[in-house]
Amino acid sequence: MQLSLVIPLLNEEESLKELHGWIVDVMQANRFSYEMIFIDDGSTDKSWQTIQELSQSNEFVKGIRFQKNFGKSQALHAGFNTAQGDVVITMDADLQDNPEEIPELYQLITQENFDIVSGWKKKRYDSILAKNLPSKLFNWAARKTSGLKLHDFNCGLKAYKNEVVKAVDVTGDMHRYIPVLAKNAGFDNIGEKIVKHQARKYGRTKFGMSRFIIGFLDLATIWFISKFGRAPMHLFGALGVFMFFIGFVFAVYLGVDKLFINKTGRLITNRPQFYISLTAMIIGTQLFLAGFLGEILIRNRKKEARYTIIDEF
Ligand code: UDP
Ligand code: MG
Repeated sequence: MQLSLVIPLLNEEESLKELHGWIVDVMQANRFSYEMIFIDDGSTDKSWQTIQELSQSNEFVKGIRFQKNFGKSQALHAGFNTAQGDVVITMDADLQDNPEEIPELYQLITQENFDIVSGWKKKRYDSILAKNLPSKLFNWAARKTSGLKLHDFNCGLKAYKNEVVKAVDVTGDMHRYIPVLAKNAGFDNIGEKIVKHQARKYGRTKFGMSRFIIGFLDLATIWFISKFGRAPMHLFGALGVFMFFIGFVFAVYLGVDKLFINKTGRLITNRPQFYISLTAMIIGTQLFLAGFLGEILIRNRKKEARYTIIDEF
């Protein structure tokens, strides 16, 4: 199979038939062998019913239905798990991403040997205040911390080699950073392609301004994970030793001063150095322990699913 299309959706009943028709046209025109995997992320409208109907007329349609809304990242994760095509393409279900980009994305992966090709909505059709400005800032920060030179991290339209999607573990809201996760997993041939973008035709956006706050927090996490995720002790141990050392120096100073220099002097507990020494040593020990706990967690972690599927075909 050449292509797996992974399409996460939440309450997109009006768009699904049109999207399906459009994709089928593109697939037939290019004679692709494909599967179209819809992941219903807890829709409360008729989305799941529509997907079932579509699968009746098209055997290449597959569906996964979540018990409740687990978020776009989990939906992608579930789709990635079952995807069998050599190239995996993710796209939004709201008709904002254009299926006609698929053949070229496929070419870039198979001919030019990219691990990932990320879409770049150079001309966007979203509201200016809610998106374009914060999104520039967001992408800039993501570029700075990840070292990946992408213009549009959050684009839903992306193409991957199959082994890439099997290697990344999309947790939290990390769908924005799959290229970064892939880079951390050792896939660094990451390209970008300008893609056509449409205004939302039906329904409404599922992410408000909160996406930027969550996005930045996730960015901080991903920066930390990529730097110290495999060895938390390297960070916490170093900081812990450093803090403890500061505390220890002050303690030695106080001791020497009390015993040999200033024998009749003030009570040690009345001196500021005492408190600096105390807190620094306690914090140092805590940091060191945090490092140990982190290492233990890493060694015990299983890759476990964080969603519940209630129906699948
Ligand atoms: N989506 C999802 N689960 C969610 C939120 C969104 O599967 O919890 C889907 C949504 O149905 C759409 C895609 O993710 O297919 C992108 O969402 P949306 O169009 O709302 O985002 P925007 O285009 O505003 O960035
Ligand atoms: Mg959209």
